[in-house]
Amino acid sequence: MYIVFFGAPGVGKGTQAQLVASRNTIGHLSTGDEFRRNIREGTGLGKQVQNIVESGALVPDELTTAIVRDALAQEKFANGCIFDGFPRTIQQAKDLDAILAESGSAITCIVNIEVPESEIVSRLLLRGRADDNEEVIRKRLAVYHDETAPVIDYYYATSKVVTVNGNSTMEEVYDSVMAALGLNVA
Ligand code: ADP
Repeated sequence: MYIVFFGAPGVGKGTQAQLVASRNTIGHLSTGDEFRRNIREGTGLGKQVQNIVESGALVPDELTTAIVRDALAQEKFANGCIFDGFPRTIQQAKDLDAILAESGSAITCIVNIEVPESEIVSRLLLRGRADDNEEVIRKRLAVYHDETAPVIDYYYATSKVVTVNGNSTMEEVYDSVMAALGLNVA
């Protein structure tokens, strides 16, 4: 099963991706977590992307797709993967289709989580991550509108998109996501 969690920064896709993955024993891959881990550990990749991530811009597609391609070779993704924060551009979406096609697979479903923008900004300010100050949040939302939002149109053409209202409690959103995926609530 290959599931993409899609939505603006702050809609809770990371939280839901983690919940669905751990409660249903599916691998979880967050490109944001991968970049932050590399920055923390001071790897070459971390040094390459630190300024980009802290400014709220997108890491170049080639670097991001390479991370995903390498990660998917791990045993923990043998039965599928929940993608969180990837793809964020149409190019990345095409790259992901190509990577999965190499092993005769394809995306199963795209879970599109929606939350009103006013709610998003207050959530992100509360979260208080290094890239969660108001200026960078505004930049991340602008990047989302310009580069990432069009990805959902790319996916609509596949009829694999399910939309979930993210503007309620974590457990309520979880139940909606599981129902949308056609899975029994665990
Ligand atoms: P959020 O929880 O706000 O959606 P993420 O943890 O997914 O944030 O991503 C944080 C930052 O990491 C992004 O602002 C961007 O700089 C970088 N990043 C994460 N995923 C990608 C991606 N697929 N393509 C390019 N850059 C990415």
